Amino acid sequence: MKSIKREGLVDLVASLCIKANLVLPKYQKEKLEWALENETSPLGKKLISQIIENYKIAEKTGLAICQDCGLAVVFLEAGRDVHLDFDIYEAIKDGVAKGYSEGHLRPSVLHSCVDRTNTKTNTPAIIHTQIVDGDKITLTVTPKGGGSENASRLAMLKPYEGKQGIVDFVVKTVRENGPSACPPVTVGIGFGGTIEECALLAKKALLAENRSEELGDMEKEILELCNNLGFGPAGLGGKISVLDVHILSTGCHIATMPVAVNIQCHAARKATGEI
Ligand code: SF4
Repeated sequence: MKSIKREGLVDLVASLCIKANLVLPKYQKEKLEWALENETSPLGKKLISQIIENYKIAEKTGLAICQDCGLAVVFLEAGRDVHLDFDIYEAIKDGVAKGYSEGHLRPSVLHSCVDRTNTKTNTPAIIHTQIVDGDKITLTVTPKGGGSENASRLAMLKPYEGKQGIVDFVVKTVRENGPSACPPVTVGIGFGGTIEECALLAKKALLAENRSEELGDMEKEILELCNNLGFGPAGLGGKISVLDVHILSTGCHIATMPVAVNIQCHAARKATGEI
């Protein structure tokens, strides 16, 4: 059993919030380079160059990649051999507040959808917990911008619609909403489970960096269909509208076929650390 100190965890969360907002993951940088090579429209190429230049400036100067520093979505993997004598959710919340304040990151969270006053701490964060083996806590902070979150959709399809129904729903969602989600986007898809489970799978799918072993062909098929839509970088026309597609699925009830599409903008930020 390992004891973890509250202060260390708060500091880790704070540093991950700052890192995620300043430094794009290697995978995302490589995807943007791929987009630059493969974009055929001159304007599209220019826009991707600017996106690349922007993240390089952010990394060099310590300024955020985007003015929308996102809602802090935190994936928490808690080892079963960890001992805590504090409320970990409160500690994560304090870490997010610290990171957003010290990193001069824009607080974008409201007390409620109705009163719409800013909490000024970028909290509450959204925290998803998984209990795992071991004596460590692993945290992934993935700030999610409002523009791309607004472009996301969920449907309870009819089971008879089958795989084609899922593909059609995803492509329709990307066609209708992708242009306003700061493309080139990444598409996270979750299907199966219940209404809340498939939404979480779609969000988790955005963290993937490799092809799914089981659903890789479907990912490639949807990627190609989406890149035939032609809205391109910044929605101003071009070949590369979507950088990648990732799918996670689970079993579902015989009478249901839940599908969620979570769209991520070109500022696909995440940072992982452990304590
Ligand atoms: S959708 Fe992404 S790139 Fe666009 S404003 Fe929001 S965070 Fe920034």
